[in-house]
Amino acid sequence: MIKVPRIIKLFSQDFENTIFPQFCINCESHLHNNEIVVCKNCLTGLVPTQLGNWADELTTGSHLDCALSAFWFDELLQNLVHKIKYNNYRKITKALVGAMVRVLESELSKLNIDALIPVPLHSVKFRERGFNQADSIAEELSLLLKVPVKYKTIKRCRWTVSQTSLDIETRRNNMDDAFIIKKKLDYSRILLIDDVLTTGATSNSCAKILKENGADWVGVMTIGTPR
Ligand SMILES: [Zn+2]
Repeated sequence: MIKVPRIIKLFSQDFENTIFPQFCINCESHLHNNEIVVCKNCLTGLVPTQLGNWADELTTGSHLDCALSAFWFDELLQNLVHKIKYNNYRKITKALVGAMVRVLESELSKLNIDALIPVPLHSVKFRERGFNQADSIAEELSLLLKVPVKYKTIKRCRWTVSQTSLDIETRRNNMDDAFIIKKKLDYSRILLIDDVLTTGATSNSCAKILKENGADWVGVMTIGTPR
């Protein structure tokens, strides 16, 4: 790797501060020194779901051992997640992942996971968007939990119709066998990572293929879920 001289690093920090002025991206108030991208006020406005493990309430399958969602996916969270998706602001992801871990800390400590897998986007969607926000979330989470991210372990092989317009039964069929395994698993307790969990059809389909290929336990964790 090429070593970047300190002077260039300092310059690029200044440059970044110029490009990203120090205002809250949500409410546009001035940020204090210890606030990054989002002000404390907005971050504390996120409402924890307090659902605990809600896998039993998912109606689209039974391959998931655990489902955790930190916050209700209200307008504020939608606004913040939207910024991860389309602008790839790393600092927003960091702030959101930090908040998610604080809320789910006690649940997470019981799981004993040995790998994180971001729920993949179809390659067409990936090309459209340029990156997968689940990758960014998993990457930040990996630093906090000290658990490795296993990228490109599963691949979305079939183009699926957008889930939002479908009923539950059709959603399940829509996601059946939508994924294939790309790499042999050398770990057995896996936490799937995504931004939002709705019916769980997509992550359930990932859990199915992972278990068919040797995983003992598969859960999913997301920043939000709709009320
Ligand atoms: Zn704010």
